[in-house]
Amino acid sequence: MRPFEYVRANDAASGVAAVAAVAEAKFLAGGTNLVDLMKEDVERPTRLVDITRLPLAQIQRTRSGLSVGALATNTDTANHPLIRENYPLLTQAIVAGASGQLRNMATNGGNLLQRTRCNYFYDTATPCNKREAGSGCGAREGLNKIHAILGWSDACVATYPGDMANALYALDASVRVRTPDGRERLIPIAEFHRLPGNTPQRDTNLEHGELILAIELPVSAADFARNSHYLKVRDRTSYAFAMIAVAAALQLDGNTIRQARVVLGSVAHKPWRSAEAEAALVGRRTGEDTFRRAAEAALRNARPLAHNAYKVELGQRSIVRALMRAARLA
Ligand SMILES: Cc1cc2nc3c(=O)[nH]c(=O)nc-3n(C[C@H](O)[C@H](O)[C@H](O)COP(=O)(O)OP(=O)(O)OC[C@H]3O[C@@H](n4cnc5c(N)ncnc54)[C@H](O)[C@@H]3O)c2cc1C
Ligand code: SF4
Repeated sequence: MRPFEYVRANDAASGVAAVAAVAEAKFLAGGTNLVDLMKEDVERPTRLVDITRLPLAQIQRTRSGLSVGALATNTDTANHPLIRENYPLLTQAIVAGASGQLRNMATNGGNLLQRTRCNYFYDTATPCNKREAGSGCGAREGLNKIHAILGWSDACVATYPGDMANALYALDASVRVRTPDGRERLIPIAEFHRLPGNTPQRDTNLEHGELILAIELPVSAADFARNSHYLKVRDRTSYAFAMIAVAAALQLDGNTIRQARVVLGSVAHKPWRSAEAEAALVGRRTGEDTFRRAAEAALRNARPLAHNAYKVELGQRSIVRALMRAARLA
């Protein structure tokens, strides 16, 4: 590991200033992703600003819904009674991730910002545009079983690997951020992560020095509480990233679907909310035929790579199963 300066932030303003002042500075939360990447020489921060003492771990009601602190751990978030009761999809998604020990350390802010698990990104002996802009993409013509089937570019075919964010996309969350000039801004979750385009080195629309304060969940998303399901398909049932994940949520009027959310994980550089699938569901009656049509619509424009065509059929089957469970038909 390379030498770096360690700074402990006493308040949000000084923490933000300490990162904003140095181009290669990073915030340090649970460290479960950042420190691993530093050991692999993928991340090379010259300054780490430890934010773990900041008072950003509260989970509390607000007038518009629920505010979930950036430094609340994944465990505390998943287990919180207000989340279990009103946003069970979020609990299911978090618990599907990593392991108990990791979730005890991992924070919500760090979880949103976890980096891809592309093997070439981790292997500094291979080219990777995300790690080193302009160097090429090892995965494009390499082993790309775990890579994207939607929204990729020739510059990068990586996927966003996290689980929690897939549920947050379905629940219309927003991310509250403090900027280096002392303001706060709210980023709708759909605009938080980016597709790779020509700048795969940028995972999100956060600017350097911006600190995530909280994730805001709207009251309206609680209307999905009764009929939601998070399905994660992976090589092992624990301690493995998703090959495909589906966050499915419905609002029903009897058997008729009033509103639907279908978000696919591990298929693109960001959680992939499928407008096509949702349009195929709204106004229809629940049932396997309806869900199959929605699944086909979701993946109609998929562009698989050499080794991941399996994700198209697996994705369709996973959508059907997740919707069946959300509708309580399976
Ligand atoms: C073996 C293993 C298996 C895993 N499996 C899964 C899985 O199945 N599903 C899943 O979703 N995740 C999985 N993870 C990832 C894990 O969830 C993340 O490592 C964790 O959530 C990151 O949180 P952290 O607090 O440790 O972040 P850190 O490692 O401290 O930080 C990560 C990044 O976020 C930035 N950051 C942190 N907090 C803030 C903030 N408040 N504002 C601005 N920037 C911030 C840091 O600067 C850094 O760039 C796994 C990890 C490991 C090691
Ligand atoms: S897919 Fe993206 S992260 Fe992986 S090697 Fe290519 S550029 Fe790097």
